[in-house]
Amino acid sequence: MLGGIVAGLIYSNAQEWLVHKYVLHGLGRKKDSFFAFHWHEHHKRARKADMRDEDYERDPWGTHAQGKEVMMLAATSAAAALLIGRRYPWFTATAVFGAWNYYRCHKKAHLDPAWGREHLPWHVDHHMGPDQDANWCVTHPFFDILLGTRKPYVGTELEAKHRAAAEERARKKAAAPVEAPAVAHAA
Ligand SMILES: [Zn+2]
Ligand SMILES: [Zn+2]
Repeated sequence: MLGGIVAGLIYSNAQEWLVHKYVLHGLGRKKDSFFAFHWHEHHKRARKADMRDEDYERDPWGTHAQGKEVMMLAATSAAAALLIGRRYPWFTATAVFGAWNYYRCHKKAHLDPAWGREHLPWHVDHHMGPDQDANWCVTHPFFDILLGTRKPYVGTELEAKHRAAAEERARKKAAAPVEAPAVAHAA
């Protein structure tokens, strides 16, 4: 039992790393790919709104980003259950839990950025850091640490510098005089 659970946890984390790097960012970089939703929709939205992606509020049934994410997790869980579920029940149960936990954590990190910053800072690093091709794991950074792809950003001097510059830009924008609306003159 314990061996199955530990193997299931390692498998789930390895899958987060591999699928995120090679499928979602690798294949999904092409705009016409089935997996384009991750880079072209999700990253774009999160980057613009300081991690918040309101699409996570919608019903996950559909062919949009959240629907495809759930479909992928359900497909890998179902495949594991059908192929090896009888032989390795604890491994399979842990892998299915891992898929559910991945969606739960990912959704929460994008609907409640303050929670994400505190509990999943590595995922904030993934979206908001200078290198969006790093920090692949979502629920726990185990494989990123192991494989050297963990690049912290939250709480660093660089982040403080970026935040100060963004605040300065916002302050200047707010202080700028409002342009008078163009008045249309009748000929
Ligand atoms: Zn990503
Ligand atoms: Zn994300």
